Amino acid sequence: MTPSTDKPSTDRNQQLFDRARQIIPGGVNSPVRAFRAVGGTPRFVQRAQGAHFWDANGQRYIDYIGSWGPMILGHGHPAVVDAVQRAVLEGFSFGAPTEREVQLAEAILALVPSMDMVRLVSSGTEAAMSAIRLARGATGRKRIVKFEGCYHGHADSLLVKAGSGLATFGNPTSAGVPPEVAQHTTVLEYNNLAQLEEAFSLFGAEIACLIIEPIAGNMNFVRASVPFMTRCRQLCTQHGALLVFDEVMTGFRVALGGAQSIYAKAIPGFRPDITVLGKVIGGGMPLAAFGGPRAVMEQLAPLGPVYQAGTLSGNPVATACGLATLAEISKPGFFDALSARTRSLVAGLSAAAAEYGVPFSTECEGGMFGFFLLPELPQNYQAVMKSDSAGFNILFHGLLDRGVYIAPALYEAGFVSAAHSEQDIAETVAVARAVFRQMAG
Ligand SMILES: *Cc1c(COP(=O)(O)O)cnc(C)c1O
Repeated sequence: MTPSTDKPSTDRNQQLFDRARQIIPGGVNSPVRAFRAVGGTPRFVQRAQGAHFWDANGQRYIDYIGSWGPMILGHGHPAVVDAVQRAVLEGFSFGAPTEREVQLAEAILALVPSMDMVRLVSSGTEAAMSAIRLARGATGRKRIVKFEGCYHGHADSLLVKAGSGLATFGNPTSAGVPPEVAQHTTVLEYNNLAQLEEAFSLFGAEIACLIIEPIAGNMNFVRASVPFMTRCRQLCTQHGALLVFDEVMTGFRVALGGAQSIYAKAIPGFRPDITVLGKVIGGGMPLAAFGGPRAVMEQLAPLGPVYQAGTLSGNPVATACGLATLAEISKPGFFDALSARTRSLVAGLSAAAAEYGVPFSTECEGGMFGFFLLPELPQNYQAVMKSDSAGFNILFHGLLDRGVYIAPALYEAGFVSAAHSEQDIAETVAVARAVFRQMAG
């Protein structure tokens, strides 16, 4: 590297990023943090409290990422901090069972009635990967079906894009994934009923599971339509495939019972077979889970032939954090208040965009929201990617410079926490107005 002749930056974020890039690929431990889509210097977080965090320069931001979903109570909630501090004093990890794992499993099952049993793991990736292995083991089938734009972590069989036609093999989206692995994954367009029908008629008897984000938060915010979800359920049942709900993002976030509780209201008797959870259940600590009917879950080791394990699974500090978080969000009125706050944010943003004639559409559920610089809400990944990315980058940096931190990519959802005050929302909308005015002018 040629030494820079510029005078050293006084920006602490830039200094840290320069240091990080020497020794951590891209300077980050998860790619989207690097700001590659929007350009500029990632903010290195020094500390956070409530709805705010402060970067390495001491600049304050209103945080609409909340660690990509887990921080539903905001940062440093006193009841959660207290539970974690007490747990830390009792020990970090034992590699032997604890009462808190049982308590957390009971708490999760009480809130998600489609699950009879649950296993705790450490990340959403691990949970989704294990759920797929379980579905394959339980059905004795190889093929899995997923949807374009849905993210289920980075296990090999899930880093796959559609082939040239439905009857052709899926292709890896990452180097290092053997084509032979990708061949067992079929990728369909989200909300496309005709493709869904065709896939099941072509190879319904081979499908171990269909995995779906019921409200997709990894292509901004796109709901599976009720007719589409109804058909997913019917076809899985008819062909003996398992319906896997990836609620790593939506679980305990869009409603106390997750997205499945919302579909169950619209579709009588609806329930997925396997549910994958993460993010909110750890309250910001590494914790995730998957669960489902007893007969399926009993296929797991040590009871059954499907192997799955983890040194830090059910970690005592993480379970304390998760339990304290679930206790808070289970309080009466929690989701009503959170939903109202989120709705006031998106209504304010919408009105501000309309004032300056900026094309804008938005959606929200519970503490999760999305918006698009498009006149109408998209229904699938292709439509999401038609969003104006240059416009998004102006909006992103305009907000960031004025102390509002949203996801640094147009295909990510946003998150409101219980700590976001009316004043935080008002400040955000005022800042957005200024940026929309600039975009229009
Ligand atoms: C975040 C996410 C994952 C992956 O979870 P990690 O903890 O990052 O491994 C899987 N599925 C969905 C829907 C997610 O949002």
